[in-house]
Amino acid sequence: MGDYSLNPYIGCSFNCEYCYINGSKYVESTDSFYIKSNALQMFKNQLKRKAKASERAVILFGSATDPYMNIEKELLLTRNLLNVANRFKFPVHIVTKSDLVLRDIEIFKKININGVLPKDLTFLDSKVMITFSFSSLDNEIAKIFEPNAPSPKKRLKAIKILKDEGFLVGASLMPLLPFISDSDEDIDKIFSVLNKIGVDYIFGGPLTLFGESNNDSKIKYYKIIDKNFPNISEATKQIFKEKEYPNINYQKNVYKKLGKACNKYKIKNSII
Ligand code: SF4
Repeated sequence: MGDYSLNPYIGCSFNCEYCYINGSKYVESTDSFYIKSNALQMFKNQLKRKAKASERAVILFGSATDPYMNIEKELLLTRNLLNVANRFKFPVHIVTKSDLVLRDIEIFKKININGVLPKDLTFLDSKVMITFSFSSLDNEIAKIFEPNAPSPKKRLKAIKILKDEGFLVGASLMPLLPFISDSDEDIDKIFSVLNKIGVDYIFGGPLTLFGESNNDSKIKYYKIIDKNFPNISEATKQIFKEKEYPNINYQKNVYKKLGKACNKYKIKNSII
């Protein structure tokens, strides 16, 4: 959820093997990334204008990159941008795989006090929403597909802390990995763990694979599958064939399983 999206970086050093931005319009490859060095000034100018016009909106951090990749530890770009959001009283929604987000709890607390929600969202309990992204909760599987990102274990710990601080916190199971983390049992297990730590919502979806060159997500993903999971290699390629999305039956099935788990655990499948 977000009225505007803000990506402080282009590309992402977490370099997940399935990352859809490889081969998409967003970036040539996640092997390198760029820093938007004028982001702070531009953001200040834009929010100042919007605040002056009494416009209220939720700013989504991280639709096409992770705002808490490792370089953020030194650069503090996301942190400084959050301070600007607070200064102009804009609520934020953060999407991340990193527990580095905990570093900015004090700013989130300020946004929760100062932020002004858009009229249609005033019923929300928090002006800060934080969504953690997972493709699996299994640390070993995550090491294969998300080698540079903080482990699922660290992300779960961070969820607990942020929930205890009173923020709206949920999980994005996007993408669920075909034949690896998408069975009824896999999804049930993931929901059970997330439910226990009290997430407010869980949404998910199937894998998307763009492109045809070596750095594109489809080729990268198939290479990893061939190497580590040869027994599901053919089945994976069959559901995609030449398309970027798995076939419609597969997609329907995934959403059905997610719906079933949401009902079982009485968890919302969206923030609102
Ligand atoms: S964390 Fe997200 S944006 Fe970054 S490489 Fe992984 S999937 Fe792509």
